[in-house]
Amino acid sequence: MLDFEALNALALEAGFTHAAPLDAGTIELKDEVRDMCGACGVYNHNWSCPPACGTLDELRAKVAGYREGILVQTVGELEDQFDGEGMMEAQENFKDSFTALHDRLAQDYPGLLSLCAGTCTRCKKCTYPDEPCRFPDKRFSSMEAYGIVVMDTCKANDLQYYYGPNAIAYTGCFLLK
Ligand code: SF4
Repeated sequence: MLDFEALNALALEAGFTHAAPLDAGTIELKDEVRDMCGACGVYNHNWSCPPACGTLDELRAKVAGYREGILVQTVGELEDQFDGEGMMEAQENFKDSFTALHDRLAQDYPGLLSLCAGTCTRCKKCTYPDEPCRFPDKRFSSMEAYGIVVMDTCKANDLQYYYGPNAIAYTGCFLLK
């Protein structure tokens, strides 16, 4: 059983605004979510995204190896719902926190599976498909690339998802073993 108090402290230390224990049994990988990736501009342009990140059946088998983890969130305040600058700032904060916590957890959990929000942006230009990924141990797929409905997963694990029209939440998770 994970020590959630300790994990929560690490999440806050990394800069996240919220965290919650994650029961891996609540995670569903849905074809209809994954199918939406086809309409995204980075589909087939990044090692962390479909189709390069694996088929949904392959990812289901991967996730089935976990029992628990932690959900993490960065909630940013916006001036209004068109505040693009505020959204980008919150997203950058989320990614910085995500990388920091991934690196910290990897020390204690070598089997860590880290699922982020959005495509991998570690390199200015992804090497896909011409060269292998530069940082295979440090790239993150998104929860959506795994076919996960983030809102449903938050709800099933008692983590708020919507914070009102003047806020934006970026959510990711770490599965641990
Ligand atoms: S680490 Fe670099 S090469 Fe690998 S998926 Fe991310 S952006 Fe692409």
